[in-house]
Amino acid sequence: MALHPGHADYEQALADLFNGDAAASDPLMILRPRCEQDVVAAVLQARQAGVPLMVRSGGHSRFCAADGALVLDLSAHFTAIELEEDQVRVQGGVGMGALLRDLSPHQCMLPVGTHATPGFGLLLMGGIGHLSRSLGLTLDSIVALRGVRADGTPFVLQGEAQDPTSWRLLRGAAPFLAVITEATLRTHARQSLDVMRSLHALEGLQSYLQEAEVMPRSRSCSFVLGTPPESKEPAVLSYVVNVARDSDDSPPEADSLGVWWDRVMGLEDLPDFNMPLHDGTFPVEPAADTNRRRRLRSWIHAISVKSGQTESLACSLNKAIQRAPNPLCRIDLQHIGGAVRDQAMHSSTYRGRDAEWSIVISGLWHPDDRQAGPLVRQWSDALFDALAPICCHVYLVERHPGTIRYGRQLQLAYAEDLALLQEIKRRWDPDQILPTLDAPSPACM
Ligand SMILES: Cc1cc2nc3c(=O)[nH]c(=O)nc-3n(C[C@H](O)[C@H](O)[C@H](O)COP(=O)(O)OP(=O)(O)OC[C@H]3O[C@@H](n4cnc5c(N)ncnc54)[C@H](O)[C@@H]3O)c2cc1C
Repeated sequence: MALHPGHADYEQALADLFNGDAAASDPLMILRPRCEQDVVAAVLQARQAGVPLMVRSGGHSRFCAADGALVLDLSAHFTAIELEEDQVRVQGGVGMGALLRDLSPHQCMLPVGTHATPGFGLLLMGGIGHLSRSLGLTLDSIVALRGVRADGTPFVLQGEAQDPTSWRLLRGAAPFLAVITEATLRTHARQSLDVMRSLHALEGLQSYLQEAEVMPRSRSCSFVLGTPPESKEPAVLSYVVNVARDSDDSPPEADSLGVWWDRVMGLEDLPDFNMPLHDGTFPVEPAADTNRRRRLRSWIHAISVKSGQTESLACSLNKAIQRAPNPLCRIDLQHIGGAVRDQAMHSSTYRGRDAEWSIVISGLWHPDDRQAGPLVRQWSDALFDALAPICCHVYLVERHPGTIRYGRQLQLAYAEDLALLQEIKRRWDPDQILPTLDAPSPACM
């Protein structure tokens, strides 16, 4: 089904997107395929019209809708989830939270992100969350992929045996090459989890990072740097997740002053990974603005840093959060390492496996504040530049094609795989309808 500008369903489809920049855009048309043949037809339509094809799964990125693009909205009909023994077949429009909810009665789960709502964009590019250290990336759970290349050719891949190169490249870079209509994922037994949250002054950040870096892989300690809702001063939230022991005893830290402890069954029941109120609860979120053009805008970088750099890391982050242009801006440090390192670096195109921290620099502002956009972008870019000397990887779910930093982001994301990816993209995506893997030359900027 095709939705055109002016149609109420077209407006609603855009208003439903999580990402404010995508929600505010004016695509040429929104297509809602029902089967793989519809996906092939959409790919051919985009090629023929010479317009970008933007795939919408969970709707969390700025890359699922744009002015003049053809949006392929998988979230409407590609929503089937089928569990067979310890594997689950999932269609390309399913959000990770919906998947966890479907799996929970069967006592199984997957390691997904810290927020439940992202979709296949997370699965296909990596997938970092509170259980990455014990169970690996979401991407490491993939056992089969089905999809349509950007030239319109359907394919099915069952592991690496039949086509090792495509298998490797697609896991970590599929959004640049193909539309993935279905993935089969290996599930894990559902686990009982302890979570300990506490708020601290920024000064202690370096020692918290040092403590986290020597933790066993059954435990992760992630952080949010930002301004708590009832405060004017930035602080750091420490968020420790531990696989619960067999006994019903509370963990030793649970009795410490200022620690909020919860025991939950499964990732979907964890408290939000957000700054809490003084009692550990969260303020009631205001309903999203019904005007799709008035939602928060963002300029985000996601980079990875190895262990052992706590001094310069803490120093840069401390300075940056104190200079944040508004209290909406935040910096997340997601704790990785552990099982993420178990897979060989060349097993996929996710190249941040030797990192300890995945750092998300979120610059956010309200579109009514016309001065804010440039200031927030400058802040986010400045921190990206300040961390560049210790950055070992860019997690390309966040990227800024067309900017001066894109060439560097691509290099840091894919390293020596970049040239091969660009070559395969020229073959699979001859009309360049999917997101670009080329950086503008400095002369064109
Ligand atoms: C609030 C929030 C929390 C987040 N938390 C985490 C986290 O904890 N861990 C983490 O790793 N990331 C996290 N992210 C980043 C997230 O993984 C990316 O934004 C991701 O791209 C979102 O995927 P999506 O399907 O929801 O978004 P979409 O915008 O629908 O898709 C993103 C892009 O992925 C590609 N894509 C999506 N589906 C397909 C498909 N079926 N076939 C081919 N290409 C496809 C397309 O290029 C698409 O434009 C978070 C983002 C937000 C906004």
